[in-house]
This record gives sequence, structure tokens and C-alpha cells, in this order.
Amino acid sequence: MSQIHLPEYDYDIVIVGGGPAGYTAGIYAARAALRTLLVEGAGTVSQITITDMIENYPGIPDGIGGFELMQLFKKQALKFGLEIAAQDVTAVRQASADPVLWEVAAGDRTYRALSVIVATGAMWRSLGVPGEAEFVGRGVSYCATCDGPFYRNRTVVVVGGGDTAIQEALFLTHFADRVIVIHRRDRLRAAGLLQNRAFAEEKITFVWNATVEAITGAEFVTGVRVKDVKTGAVSEIAADGAFIFVGRLPYTEVFQGLVAMDKTGFIVTDENLRTDAPGIFAAGDCRAKQFRQVVTAAGDGANAANSAELYIDELKGRTY
Ligand code: NAP
Repeated sequence: MSQIHLPEYDYDIVIVGGGPAGYTAGIYAARAALRTLLVEGAGTVSQITITDMIENYPGIPDGIGGFELMQLFKKQALKFGLEIAAQDVTAVRQASADPVLWEVAAGDRTYRALSVIVATGAMWRSLGVPGEAEFVGRGVSYCATCDGPFYRNRTVVVVGGGDTAIQEALFLTHFADRVIVIHRRDRLRAAGLLQNRAFAEEKITFVWNATVEAITGAEFVTGVRVKDVKTGAVSEIAADGAFIFVGRLPYTEVFQGLVAMDKTGFIVTDENLRTDAPGIFAAGDCRAKQFRQVVTAAGDGANAANSAELYIDELKGRTY
């Protein structure tokens, strides 16, 4: 019996993505003394860094800015020896079959690793209408859990008719006096149970067959301009906030064909965050799951690092 001969490689783990999932994986992996590189996009930012205030991350009762929280994640990871590179990952391919070795191409470098943790996140799909980008953080939101409490006793509109829109509209009734759901068709896509709850909730009203043409306001949002898709009539709806839930898109293009994904491109994992490719794990918003929050992304990061550690341990300890 002889020890397996691992081919030359640069890192035990390469983590792709610099949000809460990636950095938490980095903290756990580096602390486990695994040689770990985190590659974060040179030109992209994690959703969390554009989140004004996070009030629901446990242990921080007074809330914290998203950017500030991310700086703390990073500081903690660096303390344990995580290496960080600011490069866009352009390709990931298998470099050898037995043992499996992965090659991550980023910027002008190629890193060879025993394991890869995909933590690339997702971005809310935007409507792309005038005023939307301008009022982000000043009335336009893509997260009711994050921003709902700011709309106590106010009027908000919710755009979209899927599970997320209706679930979040129901959640917003805990705070807002009025929740106006604007949907482009005359029936919801959301599950029947959610629909029934929404129809029974007196704070929720619906504007059917309408598309949002613009989000209006001065310093803050004051309303939305909607167009009736049947008559073409344009009207204004007054509101203090506009919550947009028209789907979400994961940043997983680079991994297409390498790991199993659902029809939208979210990576499918088992409960230990293993994908169907050996040594590739996925964590955070880029994976197919129910609840996407900073705390669940961090939990995913820890789990993925642990699974990668077990996988690497097995690989290094394997005997022929
Ligand atoms: P989704 O199911 O893709 O629904 C998106 C909604 O936005 C649809 O109603 C769609 O209208 C509308 N929409 C899309 N583009 C639009 C545009 N440009 N202008 C106006 N409206 C637009 O997305 P989701 O609700 O975020 O759900 C994503 C996945 O997560 C789904 O599989 C969902 O079942 C799942 N999910 C499940 C739960 C749960 O409680 N089980 C909760 C949340 C999410 P149309 O209907 O006309 O296409």
C-alpha cells in the first residue's frame, strides 16, 4: 500500500465569490488549516454591500450596514490566513480524473485545486424602468425581510405575481397599512395557498394587467406610473415604497455543464452542499434553496467548507 500521489496543485480549496457565503467558507477553511484562496469578482459587488442596514443578523442588535458587515467577515477571514484575489473567474474545468483536480481560470491566472466552493450569489432581476436604479435604498427594495420594517403604517406597492411577490406582500402587511400588488396578468403565478392568504388579507389589494412604466419621486419614492396592458391607459399610484419581486438570477454561467442546475440556473446540492461533481460544493444564494438571507448564506459557507474539508481529508488519506 502506498499513499496516493496527488498531482501538483496550488490550493486545497478555491472559493469563488466574495459575499457572506464565500467569506464564511473562507473563515472555516482557513481556520481548518486548509490552503484556501477566495477569488472575488474584480468588477462585481456582493448584494450585501449595497444593503443599507441589516437588522436581522444575530448578535448585532443595533443593526449594521451591509458594507461594514462584509468588511468584518473579511477581517476575520484574513486573520486565519485566507488568501484573496480580486479577479473575475472566466472558466472552471477538470484538470485530472483520478484524483479529480479542478482548474480555475481567473484574470491572467489559473489555479489548480482539490476542491471548489461556488459562492457566486444571485442578483434580483430588475424591471429596468426609469427611476428604479435611482431610488434603490430610497424607496425601491428587492427584500421585504430587509426593508419591510421601514414602512410601518405606510403604503407600498409590490411588483410581481410569483411565490416571492405574494409571500413578501403578506410579510409586508405586518408593517405597512396598505400593500398594493401590481401584476402584469390577471392571475397570479404564486402557489394556491399563498394566493388564498393574500386574497383574504384586507391590507392587500391588486392591480391586474398592469406593468410598471416608471418609479417616481423626488428625494424618496412617492409612487409608480403604471400602464394597463389591455387599454394602454397610464395612471399613477401613490406609494412610499416599491418592492420588486420579478424573479432572481444566479451568477452561475461559468459552471454551466459542470454541475447540475435547476431551470433558472441555481446549483442543485444535497444537504451537505455537495453538487453532482466530485469536489465542487455550492453555498449561499447561487444554490437552489428556499430562503436567501445573510445568515443562511453564512450557514451554507460553514457547511460547504466542512464538506470540502471531509472530501479533501478523504482524498489525501486515500491509499492504493
Ligand atoms: P418567479 O416564479 O419567476 O415569478 C416572477 C414573477 O414576476 C411572475 O409573476 C412574473 O409574471 C413576474 N415578472 C417577471 N418579469 C416581469 C417583468 N419584467 N415585469 C413584471 N412582472 C414580471 O420568481 P419568484 O417568485 O422569485 O420565485 C422563484 C422560484 O422560487 C420559484 O420556483 C418559486 O416557486 C420559488 N419560491 C418558492 C417559495 C415558497 O414559498 N415555496 C417562496 C419564494 C420562491 P408572470 O407570472 O406573468 O410570468
